[in-house]
Amino acid sequence: MKATETKSSVLLHHHLKALRLPTVAAECEKVAAQAALDNADHLAYLLRLTELELLEREKRAAERRVKAARFPTMKTLETFDFAARPSVNKVLIAELMRCEYIDKKENILMVGNPGTGKSHLATALAAQACAKGYRVRFIRTTELVTALIEARDERTFLRLKGQFAKLDLLVLDELGYVPASKVGSELLFDVISTAYERTSLIVTTNLPFESWTEVLGSERLTGATLDRLTHRCRIIETKGESYRLHDAKARNTRAAKSTTQTVDEKAPSS
Ligand code: ADP
Ligand code: MG
Repeated sequence: MKATETKSSVLLHHHLKALRLPTVAAECEKVAAQAALDNADHLAYLLRLTELELLEREKRAAERRVKAARFPTMKTLETFDFAARPSVNKVLIAELMRCEYIDKKENILMVGNPGTGKSHLATALAAQACAKGYRVRFIRTTELVTALIEARDERTFLRLKGQFAKLDLLVLDELGYVPASKVGSELLFDVISTAYERTSLIVTTNLPFESWTEVLGSERLTGATLDRLTHRCRIIETKGESYRLHDAKARNTRAAKSTTQTVDEKAPSS
């Protein structure tokens, strides 16, 4: 009896491997023991196992999508201090976390000074999109422009464009930190107009609209780029000073207070 059990268990694991069901293979004995304790029938047992396999698959697929998105640093909304950035509408961010803007092919534009949380918010939103099954890529705009210029010969360029065309959400971080060359601006415009009504864009920039010409060069190109970007677009302004600066100041104030306190506490005994 024991020998038959072992034989069928070996065969079962062989079949599960051939069927590519690793979670079922790993969990079937444990879940069978629990099902026996719960008096669960065969179908309930099968349901539990297939649920576990599906959950594990979804988890691994989400991890792959996060890896493919190539976030420079992972950020979540849990660590975003909304009180420190009152110009950011918490309700709007919560709505955007539902990712409906991606289905509607709408864009998000984040405008504000350096260090005000634009990349943090863009990463948190894009990571949520990965979790929900969307294909995402996060790229610094200068890096994208360099890659496009380098893909000079037609085939590489088309392949690169093909990769972007497959995305549901493209994050263009830091548009405007470095002025693009004429060719660079045209290539960037090409990506933005290809994405128009097909792929959602999140663009972060420190530039107010009136300064975009300085970066993109021609007024015609700036007008056409802004027209496509802002047609169906949510604008988030991260007004105020850099969070790092604010954080450093808060730390200094705390340190100063604790020094004063220590002096005060010591005062009576001296
Ligand atoms: P930006 O992209 O606007 O230049 P970042 O998003 O890179 O700014 O923010 C700079 C640093 O400050 C990051 O480490 C970010 O996580 C942090 N930060 C910015 N704003 C906030 C905030 N409101 N709450 C928590 N951390 C923040
Ligand atoms: Mg940034």
